[in-house]
Amino acid sequence: MSRSDELFAQAQQSIPGGVNSPVRAFNGVGGSPIFIESADGAYMFDADGNKYIDYVGSWGPMILGHNNTAIREATHAAVDRGLSFGTPTPNEITMAERIKQIVPSIEKVRMVNSGTEATMTAIRLARGYTGRDKILKFEGCYHGHADALLVKAGSGALTLGVPNSPGIPEDFAKHTLTVTYNDLASVKQIFAEVGDQIATIIVEPVAGNMNCIPPVPGFLEGLREICDQYGSVLIFDEVMTGFRVARGGAQEYYQVIPDLTTLGKVIGGGMPVGAFGGKREIMDYIAPVGPVYQAGTLSGNPVAMAAGLAALNQLDDEQLYPGLTAKVEQLVNGLQALADEAGIPFTTNRAGSMFGFFFSKEAQVTSYQQATECNIEHFRKFYHSMLRQGVYLAPSAFEAGFMSAAHTDADIEATLAAAKVAFAELK
Ligand code: PMP
Repeated sequence: MSRSDELFAQAQQSIPGGVNSPVRAFNGVGGSPIFIESADGAYMFDADGNKYIDYVGSWGPMILGHNNTAIREATHAAVDRGLSFGTPTPNEITMAERIKQIVPSIEKVRMVNSGTEATMTAIRLARGYTGRDKILKFEGCYHGHADALLVKAGSGALTLGVPNSPGIPEDFAKHTLTVTYNDLASVKQIFAEVGDQIATIIVEPVAGNMNCIPPVPGFLEGLREICDQYGSVLIFDEVMTGFRVARGGAQEYYQVIPDLTTLGKVIGGGMPVGAFGGKREIMDYIAPVGPVYQAGTLSGNPVAMAAGLAALNQLDDEQLYPGLTAKVEQLVNGLQALADEAGIPFTTNRAGSMFGFFFSKEAQVTSYQQATECNIEHFRKFYHSMLRQGVYLAPSAFEAGFMSAAHTDADIEATLAAAKVAFAELK
């Protein structure tokens, strides 16, 4: 029995499922999870002393690689000044100004402690601002686990097959309308019926919780037009895509501007941080200026702000995003060539430093339905072969992969060499 297996058995005695977030339990791939003790650059090291090339990056935050020197040093320095004050601090202004500079559609911003808090509050704000109750989301998009948003959600909710969780009263979920991602006609139809009651459309501008599915041309533009026509608030949930698909997020990459944006992951440099921001007129509806309530004991935490700022300050490097994109291209093109060679039906998607691959006969996967119709058995076998060979991919067919600045050409070549073996095993 490996040390990870022992730890997993022990963990299950006192933690539900042995994990503090469901996908970590390997439900999506079978087997038991590896327990990580440390990470550095592109690598993670487990409790048995194995080394892995990591394409999960703590589910997105680690765009600069693990244990980044500047983030570590800024965090240590902040710890030395005190962990939390519950008062305004100068660094919160720096953080807000930095976010506004990087994401110009954000005129005012509030810090929270997770992506879930960011989306939950953005929804409340959109409802308070418009005076409407209904919200529109897309099947397979995950926006955290707030009640109203855990309807036909992706990520762990998709892997576990419990998109509609018990514990959410029907009365709460009934205001959440769900339509098909990348299908503007389904959005138009529902707006034609009840558009004047819809407070907001919330969307992952690149879907990253049903594998990786970029928007088809015209989709985001169409959402913008519909929201303008009906006076609804357009929320881009950029918790995953923010500072990731481009420095200014998906809104910069696709040049479509939302009214509100939610942020998380990269913005905390690895610390628990989220944020929501947008048009001044809407943001001024939030307490204490406006009537919509939101608060947080640890929001804007000084250690978290120091880590996050140290991360954001490194995103100005002009080589960073082109370099990440080139590495993702090298990886996904290499995987495609190897799969073709092995005669395995396979296709890939990518947007900036996010990528996805599908064991699918389709030339391209653009919908939730196509994503769920992929060959999960092939994915599981491939996954475990890669893991045995020291490559750590997201343990679910419904999650995106992430490249970091720390990955080298040699890391990608080693990954492709492992994939060649893994594809051969599928034949
Ligand atoms: N929105 C999106 C698009 C996400 O990917 C996630 C988490 N993966 C969340 C919201 C929720 O963020 P958190 O897990 O920090 O609550």
